[in-house]
Amino acid sequence: MTDQKEAFDMAARYLSDKESGESASPAGGTRRFLDRWTSNKNNEPVESTLPIGSPKEAVLLLRNFESSGRGWFWSTDANGNINYLSMPVLTLLNMAPADVLGQPFLSLFHGASEHEENQRTLPFILTKQSRFDDLPLQAATDDEEVWWSVSGKPYRDGAGNFAGFRGSGTDITKLRRSAKDNSKLATYDSLTGLLNRFRMSKLLETTLSAFKLQKRACAVMLIDLDRFKQVNDTLGHPAGDALLKQVAERLVKAVGDREKISRLGGDEFQIILQDVEDRGVLGEMADRIIRMLSHPYSVDGSRCIIGASIGIAVSPFDGQASEDLIRNADLALYAAKGGGRGRFRFYSSDLLQAAEDRRILEEDLRDALSKGQMWLAYQPVVDSASNMVTGFEALLRWNHPERGPISPALFIPIAEEANLIGSLGEWALEKACEEAVKWPGKMKVAVNVSPNQFANTALPKIIESALATSGLAPSRLELEITEGVFLQESADTDSMFKALKKIGVRLALDDFGTGYSSLGYLKTAPFDKIKIDQSFVKGATEPGSRNGAIIAAIVALAEALDMETTAEGIESLDQLALVRSLRVSHVQGYVYSQPVSNEVLLERCIAGDWTIEPSGPAVQRSDRLSMYRKIGAIHDNHRYEVVLRNLSVSGALIEGIYNVPLGTNFVLDFGDGQLAVSTVVRTMESQQGLVFEERLVNDGNGGLCTNRRISPYMMAAAGMPLACLPPGYYMTTEGEQRPSGLPAFSTVSDWKPS
Ligand code: C2E
Ligand code: MG
Ligand code: MG
Repeated sequence: MTDQKEAFDMAARYLSDKESGESASPAGGTRRFLDRWTSNKNNEPVESTLPIGSPKEAVLLLRNFESSGRGWFWSTDANGNINYLSMPVLTLLNMAPADVLGQPFLSLFHGASEHEENQRTLPFILTKQSRFDDLPLQAATDDEEVWWSVSGKPYRDGAGNFAGFRGSGTDITKLRRSAKDNSKLATYDSLTGLLNRFRMSKLLETTLSAFKLQKRACAVMLIDLDRFKQVNDTLGHPAGDALLKQVAERLVKAVGDREKISRLGGDEFQIILQDVEDRGVLGEMADRIIRMLSHPYSVDGSRCIIGASIGIAVSPFDGQASEDLIRNADLALYAAKGGGRGRFRFYSSDLLQAAEDRRILEEDLRDALSKGQMWLAYQPVVDSASNMVTGFEALLRWNHPERGPISPALFIPIAEEANLIGSLGEWALEKACEEAVKWPGKMKVAVNVSPNQFANTALPKIIESALATSGLAPSRLELEITEGVFLQESADTDSMFKALKKIGVRLALDDFGTGYSSLGYLKTAPFDKIKIDQSFVKGATEPGSRNGAIIAAIVALAEALDMETTAEGIESLDQLALVRSLRVSHVQGYVYSQPVSNEVLLERCIAGDWTIEPSGPAVQRSDRLSMYRKIGAIHDNHRYEVVLRNLSVSGALIEGIYNVPLGTNFVLDFGDGQLAVSTVVRTMESQQGLVFEERLVNDGNGGLCTNRRISPYMMAAAGMPLACLPPGYYMTTEGEQRPSGLPAFSTVSDWKPS
């Protein structure tokens, strides 16, 4: 021990002597120190590598090398305790020589027992007394991360016994950092720190091929942010980037595992969920993610709200190869967006057909205007007190040559996505002005303006030109704008409002109550009218509904701000009575009139005005969804075809089989591998009420689905090729085993009353 200490002190003294400019005297101690490195005192064959020149020169060179920071030396005794260490290491570790000498060599490192890929750990090497080269080790520093590449060689004493290690180290921190950065670049998305597309696709591929062998399920969620582009366009790219980072953090929180989430690019994210096939679980999770991502964000002091849509596909049901699974998740995402955004959707085989239909529709829509397939229908807007028509809302109609009339609810979103809304909107505007100017009296015309049109700085010019060409007074034109234009408050929105007001047109806030319910913009935006959305009025007549109170509040607000109100979609007399009692000034809905053609309008308005007597059902009909869908019901190895009359999460009403006793079990086959075990709890002639063994779950599309499906692995085990679930009924798909037992019950076609 004294020997080690001495050697160390000596080295230190020697080096500091040199530092102060004095020449070091190669005293006895120094001699011994030098011997450690150069002599053959330990019978090491070092003669051949002895340097030329004086030992002092060697020491100086050694010191020079050590102080250059390019490397350091170390040695240990047979027990692995330090007996020499270069000064720079001590400085780095913030230790005095006395703290280090005699301490285990291992204590210089953090996590020396953790090995990198394909490497043995340092403790293992030291016990094995084997030589090692360039072992990457992290210095036991407290603050910054320092890495060394350490090499060592065992040495022996005169008797040939193992006496310790000697070796050297170099700093590789910078090298490591850049290598790490490089691998990070190849692995991670630099903006969010999530996995990148490249890494994610590798991960999915390896997962799927492993899972195929292990017969495990794996779900993929594709997430696309709704309205992100608007944030990016209005607040700028740095704000968009900041928003994406916050989205990534929320996703990590929702999923719990950063390494399963990736940003594919832009505003698209992907999540891999291993061993999850239950659509109940997946749906709930998707719902939670959508809710989390839809909370307001604060970016650079601006508040913004975005939403998210999610498409889900599950292997092996919806595909086994990663490209199939991704394509199908993508189709589901597309359907989710098409279904109104802010929702999730599971892949199902009919989506493929739907996507194709939509593509064709988009193509047809491109020529619809030039082929004269578009026309405008006009729905009366009626003064609720006098029943007098005060104006009309122009609603686009498309007469498709093969498919007949197509709803704007279907083609307007396509037009928006395909960048066709500009020309369609412009046409609607011109046409509405041109026709309205010929109407008798002073009735107004309202035209819908989509947020895309609103974002176009040329809009005021387009409106001015439509007014000038037709000669319609600006005060007779009303523009209907949805809350969508307020998602990002910006100077552009304000100046657009100003420009429109300057023209002298009226502005109406459309679909109020469906959007983002920030009342703030009502104060600043110069609206003349608020249109209360149909969905809002719908429930208002039901007992216990608070919608009535809210409508009253909206009316009070509108009156205070000197705005009119229109209740949309009023169908029944009780709804009309309600909105009248709440002092809603105008009403639009089937209770007065459906949208009519310009010809009909002109006929009705011959006298210059039109008073309509409201008519319709006394009370609002309930929207109960009753379905008439054919499904399979399997009992005792026989498959019956039945009509599904009603479906809820816990049961169904089927029709088509007679004389079924209570307690009979059926397996209902809903198609696409969805089987539900059920029991008859009610039976009347050809109808049976069934209760499911396992509740159905939300399918993300306003319908229900089973949480589990027949596994393609199971089908493969029965000799079928491992493929996606075929469309249609599982039990009747060709090539599959079809229940072939004799029927236990009579069916509608063969039943004869006794
Ligand atoms: P919107 O602006 O809210 O128009 C009102 C919709 O409610 C119309 O549907 C109308 O036919 C329907 N409606 C009216 N009264 C009733 C009722 O009593 N019960 C029910 N169930 N519905 C009623 P439509 O014509 O299918 O239009 C749907 C949406 O398409 C419109 O909603 C509007 O957002 C959009 N749209 C229509 N024409 C245009 C257009 O020229 N440009 C733009 N950008 N969008 C348009
Ligand atoms: Mg409208
Ligand atoms: Mg509306």
